[in-house]
Amino acid sequence: MKNTHFSFEEMWEKIMACDPGYDGLFYTAVKTTGIYCRPSCRSRKPKKINVEFYFSQHEAEAHGYRACKRCQPNAGLSPNTEVVREVALFLAAHYRKPLRLAEIADHAGLTPSYLDWIFKQETGETPLAYLKKIRVDKAAHLIEHSALSNLDICYEAGFQSPSNFYKAFKTIKQLSPGDYRKSGVQAGTRRALS
Ligand SMILES: [Zn+2]
Repeated sequence: MKNTHFSFEEMWEKIMACDPGYDGLFYTAVKTTGIYCRPSCRSRKPKKINVEFYFSQHEAEAHGYRACKRCQPNAGLSPNTEVVREVALFLAAHYRKPLRLAEIADHAGLTPSYLDWIFKQETGETPLAYLKKIRVDKAAHLIEHSALSNLDICYEAGFQSPSNFYKAFKTIKQLSPGDYRKSGVQAGTRRALS
């Protein structure tokens, strides 16, 4: 079995984010429906308790699962899916850099507008929106797991200014970084007490 370095939690996060960077690396199978999907599938999300992960479609099928009609995990990756997956991994590896669409498109060997179009077709958002989401997730992770200040986290997560950081964070998490920090502290206290 390959790719066993992904933990359940990591894979769960990827499917919640419909992350196309992981298509072909693992498959999500849902016990209640008997269906398996790509990580990027945008069908309704299963309950965590009903999910199993497999590292090949054959393995999922051997366990009695049928391929999802929407994301067609048994159809192989289309050329566009391959490119989008490659770009998604590039963004995940380079989110700290001030990347512009033109540079990302250069990396993929496409024009910016064509990259924007296929990325949106595959993921429902543009590469820059996807990059913003990666940065916000990194920032949220740092808020939860580090002692860094919000200002340090802003730059550590690849934002170019505190105002960009604040705006992006609030848009995606529906809380300011400061309020997110407070809510985490409260949740931690609740966990410690129960
Ligand atoms: Zn699916």
